[in-house]
Amino acid sequence: ATPPRPDATEGARLTVLAGPTAVGKGTVSADVRARYPEVWLSVSATTRPPRPGEVDGVHYLFVDDATFDRMVAEGEFLEWAVVHGRNRYGTPRAAVVERLRAGEPALLEIDLAGARQVRAAMPEARFVFLAPPSWDELVRRLVGRGTEDEEERERRLATARVELAAEPEFDHTIVNDDVRRATDELVTVMGLARR
Ligand code: 5GP
Repeated sequence: ATPPRPDATEGARLTVLAGPTAVGKGTVSADVRARYPEVWLSVSATTRPPRPGEVDGVHYLFVDDATFDRMVAEGEFLEWAVVHGRNRYGTPRAAVVERLRAGEPALLEIDLAGARQVRAAMPEARFVFLAPPSWDELVRRLVGRGTEDEEERERRLATARVELAAEPEFDHTIVNDDVRRATDELVTVMGLARR
């Protein structure tokens, strides 16, 4: 059964981190996890195939289309979206609600469409936009990580232009010029003491 909807106090423990491709959401999240182990990071389900080094259940729950369909039909997602016009990604609701009800801070790293769905469902959550220092730097990071081919890069940059325009919808903007500094700012927004 679906757990009850979190109340406002519980919802305020949820932070949603969004921002364009290659801005460093994954790197900042990993830094939060390393330095602030009390922060729980949601593991999304995705229909995207794993990249080398990605572990099922750690980086994502890698599921096939039929499984994703079933999860949607059964209302298992807090939010889900087609990202970069291609694969589906979703946040399993039960795990998030459990953490919030247990009084623990939770962090979601999701796309813009997903962030808007969470805003509609839980307006008391904290919405943070991770921004690149500049457009050129964003392109440089995307090319530099070398995980996408040219066509996929173009697709992601097109999405990134749209996402950057949505920055004013967010409660906080953090410029990712330096991972450690960005993490410090994020945990401050989350209401945690820096250390
Ligand atoms: P990647 O394929 O590079 O791992 O992720 C692509 C994009 O999917 C990222 O921008 C990430 O924020 C987004 N994403 C990852 N998990 C979720 C999720 O559960 N829901 C939504 N809406 N987007 C997600």
